[in-house]
Amino acid sequence: MTANFSFQRLAKCSQTHARVGIFSTPHGVVETPRFMPVGTLASVKTLTPSQLKDTGAQMILSNTYHLHLQPGEDIVAGSGGLHKFMGWDGPILTDSGGFQVFSLSKMRKVTEEGVTFRSPHDGKIIELTPERSIEIQNILGADVIMAFDECPSHISTYEEVEAATARTYRWLERCILSHKRLDQALFGIVQGGMYLDLRSQAVVDLEKFDLPGYAIGGVSVGEEPDMIRKIVQDTAPLLPVNKPRYLMGVGTYKEMIMAIASGMDIFDCVIPTRWARHGTAMVKGERWNLKNAQFRRDFSPIDADCPCYTCQNFTRAYLSHLVRSQEILAYTLLSIHNITELIQFTQKVRNAILNDHFTKQFAQWLN
Ligand SMILES: [Zn+2]
Repeated sequence: MTANFSFQRLAKCSQTHARVGIFSTPHGVVETPRFMPVGTLASVKTLTPSQLKDTGAQMILSNTYHLHLQPGEDIVAGSGGLHKFMGWDGPILTDSGGFQVFSLSKMRKVTEEGVTFRSPHDGKIIELTPERSIEIQNILGADVIMAFDECPSHISTYEEVEAATARTYRWLERCILSHKRLDQALFGIVQGGMYLDLRSQAVVDLEKFDLPGYAIGGVSVGEEPDMIRKIVQDTAPLLPVNKPRYLMGVGTYKEMIMAIASGMDIFDCVIPTRWARHGTAMVKGERWNLKNAQFRRDFSPIDADCPCYTCQNFTRAYLSHLVRSQEILAYTLLSIHNITELIQFTQKVRNAILNDHFTKQFAQWLN
């Protein structure tokens, strides 16, 4: 494995593929399974790094595509790299920009060389290739960087997905050749759309490179929940057991439990902060809209079992008032709670696997 990185599997569930591990990076450890908050633009929206640390966050995710467009990687490098720029001294992962180029940008053109698209900021033509994505990620300086991949849409034909998966493999070879920093771990991404044979072939191909970690990408892109389940259940157990496994863009209770039972370790999703900005609290897998009349005179905390700053200090009535008044503090307090809620959930799962009562304790989410 790359210098300063290791993954240790500490325990395994006796009835599923669920496992507990420790992923060590140059900026600290990630105790898996673990939810990663998303800080797209080098900021987990509305939270300071110290508030973020108090949620139990270990590794956070930031976004190559967005940081390249604004402020540009040179400015991040000028302040000493991404950790210093955003004031976060824990582990950081950057995605490669592949997913954003394919999902957000219009007028893109894909060739064997890479992808060209128009900047949504100034209309300038930008070319992102495997080499360029890795170069930008080397300059940003996150602990984990992701291979540049082609993400076919969920309505693509078998032939289109097959071609994209083969290209993702060729691009991975180029990513590996251009990766320059030993203090960064490059993860490969399993693509293959909804076609399980393409997914399992992609795993076989990726494993040849003996990378420090592997991700399952291209799920949660509009397909049915049953399809996500099928892809993850089929693909995850094929990945090497002694490497961290990251499921990209998934973060509901039900999806995370299913993925953990299939052997996945880390997860990211924008919903805890996005829902916070819509006045929504996440409570034991449910969504509560704090604008609802029932909360106006409710003087209990959002979740009496939650150790977060918000639940320890404020009532539903106060939060309902802040949301109704569109006070910015509402978004901070709800983001603190929602992120803590998901991290606590993965922490409870971790303890349950360690004590081997995972399937019993989380039975309601496993069905
Ligand atoms: Zn809370």
